[in-house]
Amino acid sequence: MNKHCVVIGAGIIGVSCAWHLQRRGLRVTLLDHELPGQACSSGNASCLSASSVIPFSYPGLIKKVPGWMLDPLGPMSIRPKDFPALIPWFWKFWRASNMQKVEAIAAAQAQLMHSVFADYDEILNATNAAHLRYAHGAIHVYDTEKEYRQGQWQADLRSRLGFEEHRLSPMELKSMVPCLKLENGVAMMMPDWHHLADPAKVTAHIAQHCFDHGGDWVQDRVSHVNADDSGVNVQTQSGRRIEADQLVIAAGAWSNTLAGQLDYKVPMIAKRGYSSTISDPGIELPYPVMSLSRVFVMTPMGTDLRVAGTAEFAALDAAPDYRRSKVLLKQASHYLDGLKTEGVTEWMGQRPMMSDSKPIISVSPRHSNVFYAFGHGHYGLTQGPTTGRLIADMVIGTEAPIDLAEFRFDRFAS
Ligand SMILES: Cc1cc2nc3c(=O)[nH]c(=O)nc-3n(C[C@H](O)[C@H](O)[C@H](O)COP(=O)(O)OP(=O)(O)OC[C@H]3O[C@@H](n4cnc5c(N)ncnc54)[C@H](O)[C@@H]3O)c2cc1C
Repeated sequence: MNKHCVVIGAGIIGVSCAWHLQRRGLRVTLLDHELPGQACSSGNASCLSASSVIPFSYPGLIKKVPGWMLDPLGPMSIRPKDFPALIPWFWKFWRASNMQKVEAIAAAQAQLMHSVFADYDEILNATNAAHLRYAHGAIHVYDTEKEYRQGQWQADLRSRLGFEEHRLSPMELKSMVPCLKLENGVAMMMPDWHHLADPAKVTAHIAQHCFDHGGDWVQDRVSHVNADDSGVNVQTQSGRRIEADQLVIAAGAWSNTLAGQLDYKVPMIAKRGYSSTISDPGIELPYPVMSLSRVFVMTPMGTDLRVAGTAEFAALDAAPDYRRSKVLLKQASHYLDGLKTEGVTEWMGQRPMMSDSKPIISVSPRHSNVFYAFGHGHYGLTQGPTTGRLIADMVIGTEAPIDLAEFRFDRFAS
């Protein structure tokens, strides 16, 4: 009899785990109260940003925060009512900001990032969906030379870890993206960025392929999980009880509730982001463009344009504040000549953000039949298929080709 593995969470991480587990011959049940690809894996910036290895906590960041917070168009906000509960996380986040830790985290992330395109190739080719990914690269812009120079240490670190980027002359930029206004700024070509036609569509497509090949789908909310040596037990809100041999928790920003029932909670918060998708933007953007000065991304998605970003710190169940989506449109208008901003779909997503900016890809410390795949923060879309492959190998007991110690669940235990 094939072993039965339940995967909780049908975002890009969970569906990638389910797909790989099913390919390895396990009986798989994927479980979510939403349809696949509807939560954080839907309205995001759609970029596969392999060179994004620098953690979010780094020396000097703290100096930028007051300016960001005071600027009504700024990239960051904290809901005052929710702030006290977030202090322990912020403390751990700040403690990860020294350069030695930054270098170690970037090196760990690079191990994952170096295989993300090959892992996408594997899944997209096997599911006849290679056309849903574009390998054009992306353009990073800085509004001033000074801001570019301030970020130089990050480019140097990326280069040491094997990721390329090169500066574009104003003429090159004009011919590549005629509608982009940059005046005295700096533009960099980032060849190690790809993008997807639509992240929700790709996630749903991978899930469907898994179901078409024998995977089971259960649409229900998990209320309780249990594990012992004889197996795992999952109970749902509607009263279902599913017994299996193994369990993967891939419930994104909600994973801590389930981890707390099996082990303990880890330092993760929901770092909210917003997007505005414009159905008739009136301009053509051949590449995703990320502003490092204003911290947001503009991504072409067929005839649509998606503008995504911002960091809002609020409780997991707080209502969205769609003023943040509107701010993104103003920021995009700053750069894009002729941008039309009617016909907009606004969206909010909750990034599962660890205090050390690294995901958890790990067996449980207490249960050898429970595995954790969450906490991918800003890069879950990029790292989904890679995480799926690594978790599936872990579940069947194959040794990982890279050192996964940096991604262990119990790395915060001390
Ligand atoms: C504005 C924005 C832009 C972004 N841009 C990018 C980008 O360009 N590139 C990139 O790589 N990443 C990007 N990200 C990050 C990326 O979207 C996330 O890292 C990724 O989607 C996380 O995937 P996930 O599967 O872990 O979580 P999710 O997609 O949130 O999936 C988790 C699933 O678990 C389910 N679930 C939770 N609890 C339960 C329960 N009790 N029972 C059953 N099901 C449950 C939820 O319903 C949900 O469907 C962006 C994020 C935001 C907000």
